[in-house]
Amino acid sequence: LPRIAIIGNGQLGRMLKQAGAPMGIEVLPCDPSLDEPVELKPDDVITVEQELWPDTPRSRQLTAHPGFLNARATQLIRDRLSEKSLLDHLKVGTAPWCNVTPDHTTEHLALVGDKLVIKRRQGGYDGRGQWRWKQGEPALDEWLGECIAEKMIPFDEEVSLVGARGHDGKCVFYPLTLNLHQQGILHASVGGLKRLQPLQAQAEEWLTRIMVELDYVGVMAMECFVVDGTLLVNELAPRVHNSGHWTQAGANPSQFQLHLRAVTDLPLFTPAVDGLSVMWNLLGRDWSTDWLAVPGCDVHWYEKDIRPGRKVGHVNLHRGAVADLQASITQLAALLPEDDRSPLHWALHEIQ
Ligand code: ATP
Ligand code: MG
Ligand code: MG
Repeated sequence: LPRIAIIGNGQLGRMLKQAGAPMGIEVLPCDPSLDEPVELKPDDVITVEQELWPDTPRSRQLTAHPGFLNARATQLIRDRLSEKSLLDHLKVGTAPWCNVTPDHTTEHLALVGDKLVIKRRQGGYDGRGQWRWKQGEPALDEWLGECIAEKMIPFDEEVSLVGARGHDGKCVFYPLTLNLHQQGILHASVGGLKRLQPLQAQAEEWLTRIMVELDYVGVMAMECFVVDGTLLVNELAPRVHNSGHWTQAGANPSQFQLHLRAVTDLPLFTPAVDGLSVMWNLLGRDWSTDWLAVPGCDVHWYEKDIRPGRKVGHVNLHRGAVADLQASITQLAALLPEDDRSPLHWALHEIQ
């Protein structure tokens, strides 16, 4: 099997490396901001865990390698202007939007909606690089050429579809994941919810269309808003995704194994999903070994410095029976300070 070099060495690269270990697939996360070249072999496969990287001798070396996959997809998706244009071109539903240019005065913005989300075209994540705008407010000069404007969608909930496409064009998907975002950051997900099934076919059709158009290979995630029982795509991620972390506990293969299979041309099949799973993100907080007394509770710690709001780990909760999962969530919540319990209470409510 080829070795897989990853552009990026954060938690996603770390978990891809962990997923490769059982099959003896060597995974090499690479920090693209460093100058020193890495030692690459001609048959290495290069894939990404981040969308944007600085121009360095190392990043140039990695992207110039013949094994670098998905150059077009990564380039298109890293800029919200080309990403949204692609979705429009493919007739995939999104929030109404416009580019923010000198011609797009406040009157132009108001055509998109009374309330808008202004988003930096490049480099935003966890809700950074976004501003709320209401009709009557001035447009800021710093947005010009840097941002798109999107209608604020009063969504009912947020879901995401994680899927993969193989070298042979075969596409496979997990069931839709329900996501809780607060202040633009993912706090918790529930995987395997039966009540989302009516949206599954539409979501799969759209993500298939996107992956086929981009001739994409590997795992891709599609974040969506649910409005009155229909989907609008928020954004795409050409990589494994935080909302797919529950698959480590509740699906086989996990999204990380699925990505490795796809990029190395190993067989792909629709992942087997066992009941419901809950993922809770550890945002700027430590964890406690006491949590390991909760049945079905797995802690994934990224070994990063703890800073306010920073994703430093996640907890997966998985039990075969719903009643058992409820008991585990309740038990874990009781071990937390009251202020930290709300994502788990949200999950408990969603799986009732
Ligand atoms: P990520 O960390 O997922 O890459 P991001 O910084 O790229 O996040 P978005 O996914 O665009 O940001 O937005 C973050 C969150 O902000 C969304 O999950 C949603 O809760 C809210 N949001 C974004 N766009 C809109 C919109 N048009 N209408 C309403 N809410 C929105
Ligand atoms: Mg994003
Ligand atoms: Mg997002």
